[in-house]
Amino acid sequence: MDYKKHITVVEDWPIEGIRFKDITTLMQNGGVFKQAIKDIVDYAKDLNVDVIAGPEARGFIVGCPVAYELEIGFVPVRKEGKLPREVVRVDYGLEYGKDVLTMHKDAIKPGQRVLITDDLLATGGTIEATIKLIEELGGIVVGAAFFIELTELNGREKLGGVDIKTLMQY
Ligand code: AMP
Repeated sequence: MDYKKHITVVEDWPIEGIRFKDITTLMQNGGVFKQAIKDIVDYAKDLNVDVIAGPEARGFIVGCPVAYELEIGFVPVRKEGKLPREVVRVDYGLEYGKDVLTMHKDAIKPGQRVLITDDLLATGGTIEATIKLIEELGGIVVGAAFFIELTELNGREKLGGVDIKTLMQY
């Protein structure tokens, strides 16, 4: 499948110098969106995954349909102040900015095999932070799946050898 023709590249958004990869045009095409999710489901099937975790907001868009299809749980990884119960937290850097991510303390049980999902791997900062949270709770990160990878930013190098699946590379 030529997924790239369904991505809209927006120049200089949200700030100058960023070439924003807009996945909403892919999502608007139900058949293409379904196929992209199926590719990640097929990848996940080989990993014996117990639970999926994805950072807000686009990590939910990728992760929830995969979890639904595999009949396993989905754990939201959220910005500070969004989760109502006790959390673990981590500071992290972005391609453009800085932030905090949190997860509920009971979201993952020790020894669970976790697949991380997001729309796009850029610097890897978001996923590096997500891995820290999962490991703090005793989870084992068995893979990370994305629609898009920006290869120039070397995000892979931050992920400490975690297995990575991407559907498109720029
Ligand atoms: P990073 O932590 O640098 O890997 O950034 C990943 C997150 O930022 C992803 O969840 C993307 O949604 C978003 N992001 C970063 N760069 C871009 C880009 N060029 N186009 C679209 N989204 C981006």
